[in-house]
Amino acid sequence: MPINPPLPDKAGTPSFEARVQAALRNIEAVSDHNIYLEVFAEEALERARMLDERRRHGETLGPLAGWIISIKDNICYEGHRCSAASKILEGFESVYSATVVERLLAADAVIIGRTNCDEFAMGSSNENSAFGPVRNPIDPERVAGGSSGGAAASVAAHTCDVALGSDTGGSIRQPAAFCGVAGLKPTYGRVSRYGLIAYGSSLDQIGPMAHSVEEMAGVLDVIAGPDDYDATTLEGKEDFTGLAARKPEKFGLISSFFAHPSVDPALQSRFQTLRTQWEADGTTLLDIAFPYTDHLIAVYQIISTAEASSNLARYTGMLYGRRTEKAEDLAALIRQSRAEGFGPEVQRRIMLGTFVLSSGYYDAYYEKAARVRALIRQFFDQVWKQVPVVAMPVTPTPPFRIGEISDPLTMYAQDLFVIPANLIGAPAVSLPVGRTADGLPVAVQLMAPPGEDRALLEYALYLQRRLSG
Ligand code: GLN
Repeated sequence: MPINPPLPDKAGTPSFEARVQAALRNIEAVSDHNIYLEVFAEEALERARMLDERRRHGETLGPLAGWIISIKDNICYEGHRCSAASKILEGFESVYSATVVERLLAADAVIIGRTNCDEFAMGSSNENSAFGPVRNPIDPERVAGGSSGGAAASVAAHTCDVALGSDTGGSIRQPAAFCGVAGLKPTYGRVSRYGLIAYGSSLDQIGPMAHSVEEMAGVLDVIAGPDDYDATTLEGKEDFTGLAARKPEKFGLISSFFAHPSVDPALQSRFQTLRTQWEADGTTLLDIAFPYTDHLIAVYQIISTAEASSNLARYTGMLYGRRTEKAEDLAALIRQSRAEGFGPEVQRRIMLGTFVLSSGYYDAYYEKAARVRALIRQFFDQVWKQVPVVAMPVTPTPPFRIGEISDPLTMYAQDLFVIPANLIGAPAVSLPVGRTADGLPVAVQLMAPPGEDRALLEYALYLQRRLSG
């Protein structure tokens, strides 16, 4: 049973204001789910009224007129607070907007609030937020996934049309899978990272989460494209409008993932049904044995924590956010502010990251991980010569209970199937494909070669339509 009614039609009838009011009612109805860290209620209503007014005057509105969007709390919005769900950014207010926010506003979208997440986007369950876990709208005793748990739940609970999340090692796709919604990690460089609080800069991408592929494409079309403020953005503006469902003639199944011992039988049986369906559709399926499965978590943890340890060095209690009351000299002030401000998981990752970069260990860890990353890329370069898209699970299990996983390594193992796309910079989408016998969501992941976001969305659209009828 849906806990909230879907939002009124996007066309904004009777008014955009009524849509925002409906979203605010839905937010209120799930306020105990801890989805939003802040709701921009007054501002969103005002903006909707302004859009209604402009429409009354016959003005042409932008492509996202009246679309209600939530933003993850690691995306900067001028004049608004942004905390990365960390105490260390207590009281911090953005002095500029992320490029994605600028583009959403220019397209006449309405930003409804900032969503809860794991602290600095580090986690797979949203339990690392300094503001507590997000409850999964499908089952409030369960986690919403992470790190964009609030973003996924904000869509699942119909509090917005589209949520912006960020994905460094699965943080859009895994929570989308856990909450029964769709999520897209675009090609690295497709969307500007300017104004995104950096975690692992060679892996981070912002992307949309929504109930449908079409809605994700609508937002991607607005936020994607080159940006002078992010030198890694791809050249050329691709068009993501007017998608046509595309049936893949051939696609690859990462058999070493589907057959992985960590995959829950409840998911296995759903995947088996999918496979049978694909075969019946006349799609040629190619089983792909991925040879580096056992190294994925290590490679990702080494690279991401190395980058994080550098990115998070800027939080010293000097420039941003919280400063300790207790220090007597400069060194102690920095040390103490960081000790008080960062939560345990963030501290663990900073220590891990500085360790793998330290002289004497750099070659053994960071350098080696970078080499394995290159091997993974080369492996997929060969795969793309045979198939235009590959399928694999998103998560090994359905959403687990809040508090169920306390061991960090068990938690890291959650990320196994979502990491490859980040390591090779490829676009990947998580799509809901049904429920387990217990009513928990099941998702499948499609990944295409870097740059092929449009083709990926068209394959995803085909699958979405195939499943819905
Ligand atoms: N689960 C991953 C991690 O813990 C997700 C990171 C991300 O994509 N932001 O690092």
